[in-house]
Amino acid sequence: MGFLGKNTCLIHEKLGSGLFLGVALTNLEIEGLTGNVPAPEPLFGVTARRRRPPKRVAASHCGSCTRCIEACPTGAIAPDGGLDAGSCISTWTIEWRGQTPTDRRAEQGGILFGCDICQAVCPWNQRAAANPGPPPVRGEYGPLPEHTEIKLADLLELNDDIFRKRFRRTPLWRCHPEGLRANAMVVWDNIAVGGLP
Ligand code: SF4
Ligand code: SF4
Repeated sequence: MGFLGKNTCLIHEKLGSGLFLGVALTNLEIEGLTGNVPAPEPLFGVTARRRRPPKRVAASHCGSCTRCIEACPTGAIAPDGGLDAGSCISTWTIEWRGQTPTDRRAEQGGILFGCDICQAVCPWNQRAAANPGPPPVRGEYGPLPEHTEIKLADLLELNDDIFRKRFRRTPLWRCHPEGLRANAMVVWDNIAVGGLP
């Protein structure tokens, strides 16, 4: 499907790393997949119904690029690639229950949830974004209109009911209301001390 970049993301040569992996398990008959009819070709590069795993991992196409390593605000990416997840802002703001480690809060800067700087700077993603026309329809990954503006002060006092109503079915659901409040508090403090990069 692609190669692993130094930022440890799976990178597809046409889609970059902005993709979802998925699988559907079903006992339903699907047109085009029954009997001896060959499976339809997938849109991008994947070999359908592969019988054996690929013999080797695809070679990296990062080359001499080090953009993600240089851009990472916390130095989480090793010089030759590989990630220290315990130093990653996405881990702190999405996966951990509680706040970013005290001695590293300044590095979070103004980031409220997630990070992905290492993907934003990747030339494979910039090339994919410049690719005209569907698929994929990139606008469909944009924020819903009701989420285009989120006020930091509101999040500091966000109660659990409002969180449930507003953020169910959004990625922010993953960090729970207490996580979002904690993230907002770190950003608020960083702004207060002028710590934003
Ligand atoms: S998501 Fe952010 S903090 Fe984590 S490795 Fe990428 S650039 Fe660094
Ligand atoms: S930014 Fe450069 S080094 Fe990092 S994953 Fe992308 S191509 Fe590889």
